[in-house]
Formats: sequence, structure tokens, C-alpha cells
Amino acid sequence: MADPKMRFDTIVKNLRENNHKLTPQRLAIVKILSRSEGHPNVEKIYEHLQDDFPTMSLATVYRNVMLMKSLGEVLELGFPDGSNRYDGNKPDPHPHVICVQCKKIIDLDLATLKDMTEEVADETGFKILTHRLDFFGICRNCTNNS
Ligand code: ZN
Ligand code: MN
Repeated sequence: MADPKMRFDTIVKNLRENNHKLTPQRLAIVKILSRSEGHPNVEKIYEHLQDDFPTMSLATVYRNVMLMKSLGEVLELGFPDGSNRYDGNKPDPHPHVICVQCKKIIDLDLATLKDMTEEVADETGFKILTHRLDFFGICRNCTNNS
């Protein structure tokens, strides 16, 4: 996990350089994204902010997450059922492990990823730009509680 404080500063710097206002609401969203505990969806971020910003709408949270995404500061993990999740702690593509029961998503450091990418390039002649690598399974917690 990247240092959330460093990620927060980086995102704020990027916002500032692109002349986006640094409102308290926006900074609060950035703070949650810079940690991205558990890869939250927009609803989760919205829930977290209810106490501090009771008048903030879900649409505002969504717009802000899309803004950070457009600035390359948030990685979007899209799923066919529309339950998109976000990682502003590590915005560059990286593998994930996903629990199909509790929907927990964790980061994965794969030593073989670089070799895999080279193999794909060699095999296909493609210049590989990015990747999407998800492993689906049942986490330890869900295994023990079933
Ligand atoms: Zn689970
Ligand atoms: Mn991640």
C-alpha cells in the first residue's frame, strides 16, 4: 500500500495544477480515495462522508470520483453488474483478488507480472499498454464462516 498521506498530497497537487477548486468536500473525498480502504464504491465513500457533510449528494461524490479518474489519480475496477470499485491509493493497473461472497478486494503483488506481460507481447506482437488481472475466489473469512 502506498503512503496515504503521499497519495493525498499528489492528488491535491494534480487538482491544483489543473485549476480545480479545493473545497472541503472535495478534499474529504480525496482523503478517502488516497487510502481507498477495501476499494470502496461511490456509495461507500458517500456513506463515510455523511457525518461531516450531511448535505453532500451521491451525485457530487460520483462527479468527484470521475474527476480524479480523469486526472489519472484513481483506478476504476468495473464489474458487469455495475458495482464499480475504486483505488486511489494505487492508480496504476495492478492485479486484484476478489472475494465472490463478501466482495472484498485486495491488492496483489505478483512477482511474475512483468514476465507475463513480456510473454504476452512476445506471443502476440502486441505492444502492451495496460492490463486487467482479477482473481476471483472465497476469502479466508468467508471460508471460516460458512
Ligand atoms: Zn469474503
Ligand atoms: Mn488495488
